[in-house]
Amino acid sequence: MERHVDPVCRMDVDPAKARGESEYEGKRYYFCSPRCREEFEREPSRYAGGSRSGGCPS
Ligand SMILES: [Zn+2]
Repeated sequence: MERHVDPVCRMDVDPAKARGESEYEGKRYYFCSPRCREEFEREPSRYAGGSRSGGCPS
């Protein structure tokens, strides 16, 4: 099984249980929560680049 990491909070996300997903530059990203997805879509380049982050925006 493929593993995915929420690019916003760096949590491991099971795609079957993901609370959101998004595609950016041909790559699919999964999120632990809709909040993380919103955060990603606001600034995808910031997260897709693999830069550090400060956890879920809860
Ligand atoms: Zn998250």
